[in-house]
Amino acid sequence: MTRLAIVGGGISGLTLAYALEQLENEGLRTDIDLYEATSEVGGVIQTAWYDTWPVELGPDSLVDRQRGAVELCRRIGLEKNLVGIRASAKPPLMRTAEGFKPFPHTETRSYTMAGGVSQLPQVLTQFLHRTTIYLRTAISQVVRNEDGWYLNGDRGPYRGLVLALPASALPDLLRDVDIDVSWAKQVVYHPRAVMAAVYDRDSFVDQALLAHTGFIVSPEAELGLTALTWLSSKWAHYPEGAPIICRTFWGPPARDPDQWLDDEVQTLHENALNRLVGPHDPPIWTKLVRYHTALPQIPQGSAWQSSVRFANVRFYLGVLGPYREGPGVSDCVRVAWEEAYRYAQWANSINVGLS
Ligand SMILES: Cc1cc2nc3c(=O)[nH]c(=O)nc-3n(C[C@H](O)[C@H](O)[C@H](O)COP(=O)(O)OP(=O)(O)OC[C@H]3O[C@@H](n4cnc5c(N)ncnc54)[C@H](O)[C@@H]3O)c2cc1C
Repeated sequence: MTRLAIVGGGISGLTLAYALEQLENEGLRTDIDLYEATSEVGGVIQTAWYDTWPVELGPDSLVDRQRGAVELCRRIGLEKNLVGIRASAKPPLMRTAEGFKPFPHTETRSYTMAGGVSQLPQVLTQFLHRTTIYLRTAISQVVRNEDGWYLNGDRGPYRGLVLALPASALPDLLRDVDIDVSWAKQVVYHPRAVMAAVYDRDSFVDQALLAHTGFIVSPEAELGLTALTWLSSKWAHYPEGAPIICRTFWGPPARDPDQWLDDEVQTLHENALNRLVGPHDPPIWTKLVRYHTALPQIPQGSAWQSSVRFANVRFYLGVLGPYREGPGVSDCVRVAWEEAYRYAQWANSINVGLS
């Protein structure tokens, strides 16, 4: 049996733990310690609640693709909670300096979750039986000794280590390990401030734009605003009479949202709605959340590949996250499954962890 440490309790780290436990059926036996810096799992997947309505602060849309997030939901009994896009919802628009235009996009089958997307990481943890989750445990140092990996000095030894963190954290975390992770510096993260707001049903004088799922804003059109989603128009589980739930996204390429204080973002949000959608009553509920490593801009040539060769040495090292194949939750889930198979192959090749 091997001991594996996973650092990061977002969907990438959790799916890896789940996938590895599923491989037990194929003879792989791994004890897993999963370290998460904050007080809960899920990472950027965060659901807030207004009354009985879920308000997604992170991802709201799970793309249905092979070995992706929707398939994972089905595996862990969350299928009944999956809801699709409202049949009457009009597609998103593009806001340019000239006004609103159709947004050219490819239709993908997407779902959200009636009980909030954060159900996915929460329920996933209930399926982990060989994994110990350490919350509020930030890992700040990694070393590799004769007998394996050690974290924060005394946590170890582990035969395997997988870092399911933003790429930007890797160079510092692996500073004492003789491994070149300079490629991780090429992964640029765009921060985002997400302003979620709830309005009474009749708050907007002109409701025409609310029939769309939202709009993308071209950089030159609106300083700092990148997109708006009408969650209550988009997803089928909000009934017609539900309050209006919307989110605006603020950040590069136009501006770094950290230049604004929280109340400035709220003012920007209201001004943008006044200008783009029209006069409306003030919101009855708001929530602002900031993501500093929100959306990785993936460099050409999959630089992370250079780390794969570490999978062939005595002690396994893997890296995981949206910078590997794509930024979506389903990309992260698929990559975590791939990583689990690669780990199993390594364990097989050095004849550890096989019962
Ligand atoms: C605002 C927003 C909207 C999005 N919308 C969508 C969408 O609609 N559909 C979609 O498919 N995708 C969407 N995405 C992308 C998707 O949500 C993410 O790519 C994915 O959830 C990333 O998961 P992860 O586990 O790799 O990383 P994270 O969620 O970032 O998890 C990393 C975890 O590691 C922990 N951690 C960090 N440092 C340490 C440390 N030193 N020690 C221990 N733990 C540490 C963090 O606390 C965190 O829990 C969105 C992202 C954002 C930010």
